[in-house]
Amino acid sequence: RSWAESKLRPELLKAIEKAGYKTPSPIQMAAIPLGLQQRDVIGIAETGSGKTAAFVLPMLTYITRLPPMSEENEAEGPYAVVMAPTRELAQQIEDETVKFAHYLGIKVVSIVGGQSIEEQGFKLRQGCEVVIATPGRLLDCLERRYAVLNQCNYVVLDEADRMIDMGFEPQVVGVLDAMPSSNLKPENEDEELDEKRIYRTTYMFSATMPPAVERLARKYLRNPVVVTI
Ligand code: AMP
Repeated sequence: RSWAESKLRPELLKAIEKAGYKTPSPIQMAAIPLGLQQRDVIGIAETGSGKTAAFVLPMLTYITRLPPMSEENEAEGPYAVVMAPTRELAQQIEDETVKFAHYLGIKVVSIVGGQSIEEQGFKLRQGCEVVIATPGRLLDCLERRYAVLNQCNYVVLDEADRMIDMGFEPQVVGVLDAMPSSNLKPENEDEELDEKRIYRTTYMFSATMPPAVERLARKYLRNPVVVTI
């Protein structure tokens, strides 16, 4: 299988070539087509598998398909949020995202602890399409109204088991609850989806599935496809 068959936009194929990624990794082959169809995905995969590009490429594609903003909206975005347990992982995800987002003119902002929250507030108010964050600091920013997630319908929980282990379940839930719940897909998988509207897409990556992670998945994912690598 090849990148050419992946149905990604030409700008992204060019970025992939520049990155030197010759062929998609197994997790990318499995997860990218699902993400492009806006299916919810649970990925059981470790770092090193190429999981970051597996969620970043469909996420950026989703953003390019959104209708243009209307004039009266004062702040643009964010349209997608990625949450990760540590600053280091958030940084790696940011690097991997910018590598591709750059070719589409998509703005990425990182919101992690240990840096000035006022400066982060300033960056958020200038508008951005993608936020990559640790959950505690992002929730602080939302509580200060530095950003609102009422236009955010694409969310990735990376290393969900580690976020839970580190005690971030309330913050993760707080962020997820700040997104429009009216856009969650129907629970009943037989119910037809309305092609003309936007539904929330949720990607969850975890190395293990302890009960707290299962609970999150049951509450916020809709008929997820489980991809195990
Ligand atoms: P990840 O598992 O997302 O942390 O990725 C591990 C490393 O593999 C990163 O340095 C990526 O830049 C790289 N990588 C991701 N996908 C591919 C690919 N298809 N071909 C070659 N390298 C890749």
